[in-house]
Order: sequence, then structure tokens, then C-alpha cells
Amino acid sequence: MFLKDTIAAISTPAGVGAIGIVRISGPKSAEIGRLLFKPRRSDCRFESHRLYHGDILCPRTGKILDEALFVFMKAPRTFTGEDSAEMHCHGGPVILQRVLEEVVEAGARPAEPGEFTRRAFLNNRLDLAQAEAVCDLITARTEGGLEYALDQLKGTLSGRVREIREAVLQILVPIEASIDFTEEELDTADDRVRLAPIDKVLDDLRVLLDTYREGRLLREGVSVVIAGRVNVGKSSLFNRLVGGKRAIVTPIAGTTRDLIEEGISIDGLPVRLSDTAGLRETDNPIEKEGMAFVRERLLDADVVIVVLDGSEPLSPEDVRILEENRKRNILLVINKADLPRRLAAEELVNDMEFAQPLWISAKYGEGVDALKKRISNAARGGGSPRTPDTVLTALRHKVAVEKSIALLSKAKEGLQGGLSPEYAAFDLRQAVESLDEITGRNLSEEILDQIFSNFCIGK
Ligand code: GDP
Repeated sequence: MFLKDTIAAISTPAGVGAIGIVRISGPKSAEIGRLLFKPRRSDCRFESHRLYHGDILCPRTGKILDEALFVFMKAPRTFTGEDSAEMHCHGGPVILQRVLEEVVEAGARPAEPGEFTRRAFLNNRLDLAQAEAVCDLITARTEGGLEYALDQLKGTLSGRVREIREAVLQILVPIEASIDFTEEELDTADDRVRLAPIDKVLDDLRVLLDTYREGRLLREGVSVVIAGRVNVGKSSLFNRLVGGKRAIVTPIAGTTRDLIEEGISIDGLPVRLSDTAGLRETDNPIEKEGMAFVRERLLDADVVIVVLDGSEPLSPEDVRILEENRKRNILLVINKADLPRRLAAEELVNDMEFAQPLWISAKYGEGVDALKKRISNAARGGGSPRTPDTVLTALRHKVAVEKSIALLSKAKEGLQGGLSPEYAAFDLRQAVESLDEITGRNLSEEILDQIFSNFCIGK
């Protein structure tokens, strides 16, 4: 079986760093460590979970590859559940590659992406939802996202799913028992008793499903694009929201050529904020290209902030941009509120049927906090930020929950409609299997391959 072999990988990011780690897992971990690592202290006994200082040598030539720290960790108290070792080298890509080559020469195999975590899963150190949380933890872009990934790693989601699974099994037991009874023996009063717990499980699953939007936002973040014609103050607003001076702000029309992007956090949400080139008709080929790129980006945006200049009347160009974006998730902002107001906001609301715009001054910061609130609300589809204990973040988990809901509903309808309990039992068993997909019980190798291939190498 493939778990019998020993895998190795560089587990720190590519590039230069103070320290780089070569990680080894499998039965040959100790042997490879002893072959390559020469401790400084002659009395080193390679005790488990102890860090030793020494040199890593090429066993064939005796040449020193690096001065490093080495730790051997005996199974099962390791991340993978197998014997493991780590070489903490200097973080240069050439050093680490050389050390890894020697580790492979000594009998390890280069690890596949996510293979360490996969071994942890196969050795029951983690269930699948927890293994996936490892990935989320590494890629978390806000504190909120990090918190949920940590909760999931600790098993909050898995625990909740197991509770619900247990409840479905409890419903299933009497139904399966009743399959052997004849029609006459079945009392319809029993059905009512059985339906109540199905409703409770359905409610619990729906509550879990409702957390997906928030979870997805925390995981993937939202794309917010600032659009509007030139000189309305888009770059000034971008800088205000980013909190630094990134985009160049000048009174010369057309300064921002195409797109500037920055990752920020609004209300705990990871936001990819983009400042676009002033949208206008142009004959300049470079500007044209920039505009095409901006329009493409607008199509993917979760929220589009359309900025108007409040110190000037609405221009045909403004109207065109507004109409172009009408179907998108628009936030209407009127900037330069510090100057005399020449833009008729009522016209936008009454004649053009846009939602009430927000007056701000990007230059002086007025209204910017209110805008942040509106951005967060718009991204969350009008809902306010919630802090449920368990959050669904992965599409895979959401699909499994939806499938379970559909199957439980079908079982309920079958029982209500007087179908033979065998049908309900079948649906309920399938619902249990769907829930098991989340924690990874009975998943095929192929699906596991797919899931772990999204991990990085060395994790
Ligand atoms: P963009 O072309 O839409 O990116 O606009 P900029 O951010 O480059 O701003 C164009 C001009 O408007 C600059 O001179 C800014 O200083 C000025 N401006 C931007 N926001 C405000 C504001 O809130 N109040 C006033 N008075 N001027 C502003």
C-alpha cells in the first residue's frame, strides 16, 4: 500500500527566507534523518520530538549541504500519524532543493500536493472537513476567515455534521424496523412521531446552509470596483478606502490608465478593491485597451461603486455609465459633497429609479464610514454580518447539505403520502451518505485525489 512509503517535500514557500523546512513522513523518516544529519553533540540520541543542532551532509561525498536543526517525531503523535522528521535549513531555494534531492536519494519519494494532510486524514488524525480547513487556514485573508478555518480545524463543523447524522440515524432505526410490519400493523400515528424529528433535522440543515453565503464571502472575498467618468474622484476614494496613497490623484483627466487593485478588509470581509480608468470614449489605442480591460472587470464585480461628481450637473457620460451598470449590484456615490451641490440627486432616484445615493467627500473623508457599511451590506446581499458558531465555507460542503435536505424532504413526503417505509429508509440512508461526504467517510479515491490536488505541495 502506498502509505508504506516515505514522502518528502519543501514545506516552506518558494523564495528566500531565514528558514526553510524539508518535511519527511513515513517509515523511513528516522533512517533518512540519521543518514543525512550529523548532530553536533556526540551524545545525541535522536529522541522523539526534540530539536537537534548539526549539519546535513551528502552521504556519498561527506560534503556539508547546510547547518540545520533536525527533529524526529515518532508515530502516532505527529501531524500525519506516521513517523515524521523535519530539517530546518537556511531558507534558500538552492539549499532546500539540494537537501530534498538527498532525502529522495536516501529513499523518500517527492510528495504530491496535499499528501501530508491526506495521510493525516487516512490515519484518522483529521476528518476531511478538518483537512480542508488546513487549506483555508493557510489562505485566510482576514481575521474572520481565519477564525472560521481554525474552528473548522478544531472540528466544529465536523461535530455539528456528526450530530445531525446521528439524528438522521435515530429517525431511520424505527422506520427500518417497521419495514417488516404489514400495512395494518402500521399505525399512522407513528408517522407523525417520525415526521417531527425529520422537520427538526431539516431545520438544522437549513440553518447550516444559510451560513454558506457568509462563509463563502469570508473565504473568497468580494470584488468591489470603483467606476465613474474621469475626475469625479475615484482615485481619491480608492486611496481613502485603502488608507494610503496608492493611486495617483491629479487634476489631469485620464491619469489612472487601467486598473489598480488592493486587498482590504471591510467589516471583517476580505475585499479586492479596484480603481478603474475613467470610463470614456477615446481614440487613443492604449486607453482603449485599458477601457476594455476595465469593462471586463466590471462584469465580475460583486459590487460596483459608481461615483458621480456632486459639484457638477449630471453629464451624458454619467448617464451612460449608470445605464451600463444598472443590472449590477450598484452603490451610487456622489462625491465632492464639500463643494456647492450642483447635481440633482432627486433626478437619479425619481426619474432614473436608482436607490438613494450617498453623499461623500473623498477628499475630507466625510461619509466614507457610511459607504463602508453600505459596501459590506451590498456584498452580503442586504444581510448584516452574523457570527454563527459553525459556518459552511466550501462549495463541496454546501452541495452535500443541499443533497441531504432534498433527500430528507423526499423521505418526509413519502411518509406523508403513505408510501412504503422502504422508500423513506432508502432516502434517509442516502442523506446519511451525503452528510458523510463532508467528513469524508466512504469517499472514493478519485474524489479524494480531486480534493487534495487543490492543496499546495508540502502541506
Ligand atoms: P478620478 O479621475 O475619478 O480618479 O479622480 P481623482 O481622484 O484623480 O480626483 C480628481 C480631482 O478631484 C482631484 O483634483 C481631486 O483632488 C479632486 N477631488 C476628489 N475628491 C474630492 C472631494 O471629495 N472634494 C473635492 N473638493 N475635490 C475632490
